[in-house]
Amino acid sequence: MIGRSLSNSVINLGIQDQYAEALNQLGFEFEVLAEQEGDASLGNGGLARFSACQMDSLATLDYPAWGYGLRYEYGLFRQIIVDGFQHEQPDYWLNFGNPWEIERIHVTYEVKFNGTVEEVDMNGEKVKVWIPGETVEAVAYDNPIPGYGTKNTINLRLWAAKPSNQFDLEAYNTGDYINSIVNRQNTEAISNVLYPDDRSHQGKEMRLKQQYFFVSASLQDIIRRFKEAHNNFDELPEQVALHLNDTHPSLSIAEIMRILVDEEHLGWSKAWNIVNKIFSFTTHTVVAEGLEKIPVDLLGSLLPRHLQILYEINSNFMEELKKKIGLDYNRLSRMSIIEEGAVKSIRMANLSIVCSHTVNGVSKVHSNTLKTKTFKDFYELWPEKFQYTTNGVTQRRWIVVSNPSLCALLSKWLGTEAWIRNADLLTGLRDHVDNTSFRHEWKMVKRLNKMRLAEYIETMSGVKVSLDAMFDVQVKRIHEYKRQLLNIFGIIHRYDCLKNMDKNDRRKVVPRVCIIGGKAAPGYEIAKKIIKLCHAVAEKVNNDADIGDLLKLVFIPDYNVSVAELVIPGADLSQHISTAGHEASGTGSMKFLMNGCLLLATADGSTVEIIEELGSDNLFLFGAKVEEVAELREKGGALKVPLQFARVLRMVRDGYFGDKDYFQSLCDTVEVGNDFYLLGSDFGSYLEAQAAADKAFVEPDKWIKMSILSAAASGRFSSDRTIREYAERTWKIDPCQCPF
Ligand SMILES: *Cc1c(COP(=O)(O)O)cnc(C)c1O
Repeated sequence: MIGRSLSNSVINLGIQDQYAEALNQLGFEFEVLAEQEGDASLGNGGLARFSACQMDSLATLDYPAWGYGLRYEYGLFRQIIVDGFQHEQPDYWLNFGNPWEIERIHVTYEVKFNGTVEEVDMNGEKVKVWIPGETVEAVAYDNPIPGYGTKNTINLRLWAAKPSNQFDLEAYNTGDYINSIVNRQNTEAISNVLYPDDRSHQGKEMRLKQQYFFVSASLQDIIRRFKEAHNNFDELPEQVALHLNDTHPSLSIAEIMRILVDEEHLGWSKAWNIVNKIFSFTTHTVVAEGLEKIPVDLLGSLLPRHLQILYEINSNFMEELKKKIGLDYNRLSRMSIIEEGAVKSIRMANLSIVCSHTVNGVSKVHSNTLKTKTFKDFYELWPEKFQYTTNGVTQRRWIVVSNPSLCALLSKWLGTEAWIRNADLLTGLRDHVDNTSFRHEWKMVKRLNKMRLAEYIETMSGVKVSLDAMFDVQVKRIHEYKRQLLNIFGIIHRYDCLKNMDKNDRRKVVPRVCIIGGKAAPGYEIAKKIIKLCHAVAEKVNNDADIGDLLKLVFIPDYNVSVAELVIPGADLSQHISTAGHEASGTGSMKFLMNGCLLLATADGSTVEIIEELGSDNLFLFGAKVEEVAELREKGGALKVPLQFARVLRMVRDGYFGDKDYFQSLCDTVEVGNDFYLLGSDFGSYLEAQAAADKAFVEPDKWIKMSILSAAASGRFSSDRTIREYAERTWKIDPCQCPF
């Protein structure tokens, strides 16, 4: 999820002023031109944006790294809202060409699918030979990622599918000319479209094809490069580290075994020893249901040889495990790479753990959940494999590109631009919080960004908002666990209170502009209903003359990187309110923190570490803790839910915001006894945290101090720190300065 590249590139190359000047001479204005660029949205949400931040940090810190992925022709769908409902439109982002990519027509590999496996005798030894049924060509498209303050530029190599020359010769010869051309187009479809499901997996054939296509081309590329300088594989583990960013590329384990055993004839145990030393793995998932599984039947027909290899890896693992833990069949079956059951499947996370030297979580709490719940059995077997590296975001994009006025202010008061490469220096802001002119300038920067955002809101939705109101933002993928519904219920409660106040009391209320944005997966009905409810509430509240500027609700459509760059700097408050234990890390909060936006949050994911850095007095914390959640769920129906919650629920059920029937099933999900994400039991403390935010906002000096301290605490959440930790602890690589 790179977003736009123009501003980021000229900034990282250090040619921003010259470039703007040159454009000027051609009669263009830089800012206007930059707005013309479309977003590259080749991923779903946090995980994909994290990858983009990691690439920026890898380049900036001079690490010799490559990123690999798919060159989807259609990125994440565009969200449009019609009558309050989400509709999905294809994102044909290559319509006007993509000036950032370089097509490498000579870097192509054949990727094979289907067919059969035969055993042949080769010099007295039995070897397996895969006779594939279909061949597709992978063509490399290179996307240079320049580092900041260095000449180092790294490469993001994305693969596009093209029909292979060898394709279907047979069909041509038998005269079925038209059909064979049509079939060629089916093969090109592999890299056509990104699956828009965030944090869920459907075991679809095309998705599996995409994964193998991406993995096979990337490994051929990596091995080809290695072989250029080596004539055996002994040094592969010292020269190559492969990182599995979640399980999506985990087929590369079976693929590299296949290459080493079947093609390079290394022998199983030699190959296995190498493979064990090159893979590391980061999981971004919390709950077992979110883990990726591939039906054995599907895998066996698409990749018959790989299925054999996976069975062999598993049977070796099971034998080894029995020696260690004995015949504890329950535990053996839990840890098996193969899941028996109605649909026999491959557990991609188990595969990744078994074959990697390191298993990473993405925050402290996430890591504890992995060790004590999700992968408890594996942790007890291999405690030394488990680590965590808290995610981060790059300050180059999230401050320098997206908030130029804050950038200038930071450099002025820190007396240096060095924080752009060393975010730890942001702690220096603490020295100035008592300086009134600093605070005044800080406030002016926030006001400017709120102005930009207000203009955008007016253009998008026609709603005029007051700059004196608190801009309260929740932007992220729509998920039940992220609890946008809790936010909306809070807004309904606020509206209800305002309606029941007399005019004098209303005057004391802090005006709010509530901003919500995010995409729902196209098949995720409940998430789509949340979007509709948001619009229904907005319609009522925004048109209520009693309420005026005291409360506005706007839904910002098509949340993507560029929208985030505009919204985040303009936020006063941002919400990260997932049910504790459900957000693996969360990176949105880090972007807001950097931009001096106060957080209203649960103690989940990286927020726990943000509290360590910032102190709990400088954010608005609420809700059940991770340890309390299980117990609350057990109590289930016996929980006492605040009256205000029941009242809000009733208003929605009774059709106060229209579409009565449509919202019933949404309301069911939070009814007592059914409220898995604990909206009811957290509602009371949520309202208290909101009241505390209101109270702080009417003391501008206090608020600005908290805002400054937020940005000052954000250094630890730079992806530079994340990448340095991975490089030193997991990959064991050193920076490699560009020699020119
Ligand atoms: C940062 C980011 C996310 C992740 O946000 P969370 O609050 O961590 O869920 C998702 N989408 C976009 C476009 C982002 O920039």
